[in-house]
Amino acid sequence: MEEGPNVPPHVLIFPLPAQGHVNSMLKLAELLSLAGLHVTFLNTDYNHDRLLRYTNILTRFSCFPGFQFKTIPDGLPPDHPRSGDDFMDLFDSLNSVTKPLFREMLFSGQSNSNSSGRSVTCIIADGIFSFPIDVGNELGIPVIHFRTISACCFWAYFSIPYMIEAGDLPIRANEDMDRLITSVPGMETFLRCRDLPSFCRVSNLADPNLQLVANKTRQSPRARALILNTFEDLEGPMLSLIRTQCPTIYTIGPHHALLKLKLGSETTTLQSQSSNSLFEVDRSCMTWLDAQPLKSVIYVSFGSIAKMTKNELMEFWYGLVNSKKRFLWVIRPDMVDGKDGDSQTPAELVEGTKEWGYLVGWAPQEEVLAHPATGGFFTHSGWNSTLESIVAGVPMLCWPYFADQQVNSRFVSEVWKLGMDMKDICDRVIVEKMVNDLMVEKREEFLKSTVEMSRLARESVSEGGSSYRNLDRLIEDIRLMNVGAKC
Ligand code: UDP
Repeated sequence: MEEGPNVPPHVLIFPLPAQGHVNSMLKLAELLSLAGLHVTFLNTDYNHDRLLRYTNILTRFSCFPGFQFKTIPDGLPPDHPRSGDDFMDLFDSLNSVTKPLFREMLFSGQSNSNSSGRSVTCIIADGIFSFPIDVGNELGIPVIHFRTISACCFWAYFSIPYMIEAGDLPIRANEDMDRLITSVPGMETFLRCRDLPSFCRVSNLADPNLQLVANKTRQSPRARALILNTFEDLEGPMLSLIRTQCPTIYTIGPHHALLKLKLGSETTTLQSQSSNSLFEVDRSCMTWLDAQPLKSVIYVSFGSIAKMTKNELMEFWYGLVNSKKRFLWVIRPDMVDGKDGDSQTPAELVEGTKEWGYLVGWAPQEEVLAHPATGGFFTHSGWNSTLESIVAGVPMLCWPYFADQQVNSRFVSEVWKLGMDMKDICDRVIVEKMVNDLMVEKREEFLKSTVEMSRLARESVSEGGSSYRNLDRLIEDIRLMNVGAKC
């Protein structure tokens, strides 16, 4: 294949195979493709099948001649759930099965580049993987880490050794979960024990998940640079702290808004309604939303991985129905743990849902949040969801499930004042009260900050804004790598 001074750089993008990560890195792939770079997007076989089944992704990317998908096994059997408590199994199988295949793929790709494809100029790897840095170093390919989590959680993960040194970790028996954690720089005054990333809630420092996130995050300074899907006005203080460890950071978020802006007038119906979903989107909820009054609906969704027990589901359901607020609720088919046997849904919930609610298995979330009828978001505080809500200016009620979500929800409520945090509670009376607070009682309180943060988010991705400029800088720096590689 053609190689030469005028051929655009070729970027290999490799996300962790989970919905939020794939979605986020596909958006980056589209942004780089729009700038004329050649991109290979490496998906696991399992996720690629799902993308092909549920989206028009091939049609969407067909306008970029330099774009291609490649696939690699994730090492798990097809019927493995890859969600809830089983999600972390992915890390073992990626390490034992995918890692050696990735290395082999790159080695043979670089040595056969003249006959079978373009050599890779730069790898953009999910920051939860460190092995691409080793492979890149062996082959002389620069590696950029892309962490799809918030800067605040990146910094909390990075600070795990500080917490251990200060004796804040491990969590003690009978721990006071409201105890302030004072060993994370920049968060001394508001981070409680219960706000730590879920992987920190362990009594044993050798816990494999704690070790994994701490060790992988500490590898990012070895990468050429770090990309974060955030913006300076939102996370400036955290970013300053991260820059002491990773000096080159490209903050390019919220990149779904940046992408929308870059697509601009090129946005066809196909593009605006396309998604990166690994689940089948039920668009009927848009018709339901169209019939609801302005800002009257609370959208409820806990993302792609979170699970709950049947009992928790019932508490949410009663709370929502009893609040007498309209609700649109995403209940994924695999979301409720265990079999619910032959238990019937109580008649009052069936009736209440007919009157107030609408249930779907998966929604076109960005569109739902942007819909004029949506007035609140009951969320698990996944980072993509949080950014999507910020851009849409929708206040949040947070019920974090795991990983970065516990930190994100604390920042949403305490630092950015964009909503409320219900973490660790699942009780119908509290749900009812907090839904009412979000939608009515405290609405005005949150609106001021949500409107302002939405404005700042949009400004950052507009021409001349920080994220807009940082994307340009990233593209320019990758182009320079291309020139450097040819000298
Ligand atoms: N999402 C969606 N429809 C749904 C639920 C979620 O399109 O019904 C999308 C959502 O817009 C977001 C992603 O799935 O981009 C979830 O990512 P997030 O980081 O919020 O959470 P995760 O799924 O990784 O826990």
